Amino acid sequence: MKTWKSRPVPELPGTMPELFLHETSANRVTALPSGDQASLYVCGITPYDATHMGHAATYVAFDLLNRAWLDAGRSVSYVQNVTDVDDPLLERATRDGVDWRDLALEQTALFHADMEALNVVAPNQYIGAVEAIEWIVPQIEELVEDGLAYRVAGSGGEPDGDVYFDVAAASAATDRGGIDGPWWLGQVSGLTEEEMLPVFAERGGDPQRPGKKHALDALLWRVARDGEPQWDGATLGPGRPGWHIECTVIAQRFLPEPFTVQGGGSDLVFPHHEMGAGHAFALSHVPMARHYAHTGMVGLDGEKMSKSKGNLVLVSKLREQGVEPAAIRLAILANHYRSDWCWTDALLANAQRQLATWRKALEAAPEGTATALLGEIRAALAADLDAPRALAAVDHWAGQALAGEQQCCERDAALVSDAVEALLGVEL
Ligand code: ZN
Repeated sequence: MKTWKSRPVPELPGTMPELFLHETSANRVTALPSGDQASLYVCGITPYDATHMGHAATYVAFDLLNRAWLDAGRSVSYVQNVTDVDDPLLERATRDGVDWRDLALEQTALFHADMEALNVVAPNQYIGAVEAIEWIVPQIEELVEDGLAYRVAGSGGEPDGDVYFDVAAASAATDRGGIDGPWWLGQVSGLTEEEMLPVFAERGGDPQRPGKKHALDALLWRVARDGEPQWDGATLGPGRPGWHIECTVIAQRFLPEPFTVQGGGSDLVFPHHEMGAGHAFALSHVPMARHYAHTGMVGLDGEKMSKSKGNLVLVSKLREQGVEPAAIRLAILANHYRSDWCWTDALLANAQRQLATWRKALEAAPEGTATALLGEIRAALAADLDAPRALAAVDHWAGQALAGEQQCCERDAALVSDAVEALLGVEL
């Protein structure tokens, strides 16, 4: 599938220090693997209600990582999916009386326009669930053959043949004691099975489904139901894939095994990334990713932002109102990516003022100050993508520039402008 267009990233003198990033499974900040190559998979949207501020904050956060790697001279492979067929999308299309394909296309296009406006560097591969089905089917068949997935008999009006991932068999089968270690349920999230059950039910899982071997077994293939879209599933029968296997197969197809960082919102830790890690290990006997990183949740005026509450802040709506995308991006960056935070009018107003101040300061850039600021922005990003600290450094520099009486040094102004654009993605 086509992706959006990236603006060029300015090249900067000097280099990025070693990068440290919070690792979800260990719950601490650790050094990222070094080397010339880096690879990133960030779970994409299900295309409805795009692009709310929670989406935007996630993709801007991993854009900082991408930009830090690019600045460090890494060659980055970045893959993102779009779940262009799934239960929530179909439910929304039915509710609104539209064709699910039209809804997916329209919302994916809107998402791309928002990402382009927010100056998020596009992934190298942007893959839809629908186009991945032909790659997913043989992988599910392999899991069934290996005894790591099984078919469930129909009951209570459900047809025969839905295929589930057997978590108990998979965790036992991966216990090979290799250098990368086995997979077990809880490896990514650190949750106990007792803690997992309510979260699983809340986030699309079906712990009560009769006929499953374990309540936490996750759906791999949903056989066709009347009125639902379906695809050829070879020996699985017609149907459509589950969500976790979709990301696993796309990541394994386009990225090294394991790849460097799996990213997403903190609501994807369990079950999505937990199960994805299990599927990947069951298929390839190596971990899916070396590092799992997650972004906080975004609320509105102190309340959780959610579709059901109807209080979503959409990037496209703000753009329609004439808000400059760079100010939206700066408002997002004022919050650490791991914190849960709220969108407020005050936050946006502050970002707009900050942007104006920085632009004015460029006209009074003091000679010989830009290199030090560049070093401070790099150090802040290298320390777990600390954007608020980077913004504070630019604020401090701008305050000093505006307090001085020097003529603008054009070389310093150009370097500050390039540094803010290349590393923070904000155009001055
Ligand atoms: Zn995913």
